[in-house]
Amino acid sequence: MNNFTLIFLFALALSFAIELWLTRRHFAHIRAHRNAVPDAFRSSITLEAHQKAADYTLAKGKVGQFEQLLSVAVLLGLTLGGGIDLVAGWWGGAQTASSVWLGTAIILTVMLLAQIIELPASIYQTFVIEQRFGFNRSTVRQFASDLGLQWLLTLLIGAPLIALILWVMGAVGGYWWLLAWAILQSVSILMSWAFPTLIAPLFNKFTPLEDEALRARIETLLQRCGFQSKGIFVMDGSRRSGHGNAYFTGIGSNKRIVFFDTLVESLEHEELEAVLAHELGHFKRRHVLKMLIASAVLTLIGFALLGWLVNADWFYAGLGVHVQTNAMALLLFMLIAPVFAGFLQPVIAYFQRRHEFEADSFAASLAQPDFLVNALVKLYRDNASTLTPDPLYSAYHYSHPPAAIRIAHLQGKAV
Ligand SMILES: [Zn+2]
Repeated sequence: MNNFTLIFLFALALSFAIELWLTRRHFAHIRAHRNAVPDAFRSSITLEAHQKAADYTLAKGKVGQFEQLLSVAVLLGLTLGGGIDLVAGWWGGAQTASSVWLGTAIILTVMLLAQIIELPASIYQTFVIEQRFGFNRSTVRQFASDLGLQWLLTLLIGAPLIALILWVMGAVGGYWWLLAWAILQSVSILMSWAFPTLIAPLFNKFTPLEDEALRARIETLLQRCGFQSKGIFVMDGSRRSGHGNAYFTGIGSNKRIVFFDTLVESLEHEELEAVLAHELGHFKRRHVLKMLIASAVLTLIGFALLGWLVNADWFYAGLGVHVQTNAMALLLFMLIAPVFAGFLQPVIAYFQRRHEFEADSFAASLAQPDFLVNALVKLYRDNASTLTPDPLYSAYHYSHPPAAIRIAHLQGKAV
């Protein structure tokens, strides 16, 4: 225990208290509006669908609260509770922890352990909550194979990366953190590029959008925006869930716009075209690139901090770890950085929502905004997303503006 212990505990308690307070507000707001569809949606959303969205949001939120409590307990158990020291002991203790591969093994073991503890909540979310509201289409077999594949990827990509960073930490001298940052950035850019064609297809099937009637409309739209036409795909999202969505992914030559098959089924052609125009807005305004740059700057600050903390005795002692090695510093930093970085959440969410407004404005400049409005209403209805979030909760957490605000913004464009 030292002053840093107190700072850490204070930050953890504060972030948890904010979360608790916001969630209580959110729940109360949703309950208070459960019995009436907001005016703007009265003609498009039934009371039954509105109430389903309220109940679904509350049920999901309760699991989320439990998960948060659990992750605080796991974090405290690993650090001040001596969990990390225990894991280091399994791998041979203090003397071995300075080896790059044993350090990597300790880090991966702790990460795996934390994931295993948090697994039951995720099983409950999929097979109880999603099931109850009619969204789950995943089988136990599918769930298990997804999990196995995720862990395999973590091992194949994460293990060499962690080992390389640990090696740089030990071999390069005072400015190791600059090189480590450059390596991590290169890998993250490579992953952004590889994700659409190499990673995502491991989990889902992607087929080019082949509706003939739709194709002609889309070609025109794509040409107007200078987007390569082979980049539009339909994903078999229905393999796992009934939720529908669309997203823009990848950089450079590997850009893609992806529609979930569930979305393609529920939207009219004009509405799909409007959603496409919105996604093209993200492309035109370079939102993926901007987010990559923002994350690169934040990561650089993180690495500079780690470069300082790695030599600070109080950092290890304050977090209950008795072995001072590079692996321990990296592991502790990976565990506690999210606690402090979490306070940036509302800032990041604000910029994400600004990107959504920009993409909407772009879509509205290409096509009738009413089609995008209709598509959004269907998306909210089919996904049972709440139309009445608490304003503070959504300001803090939402990457997309609440439905009512977003639609008002779009309709403002129509005038
Ligand atoms: Zn968007």
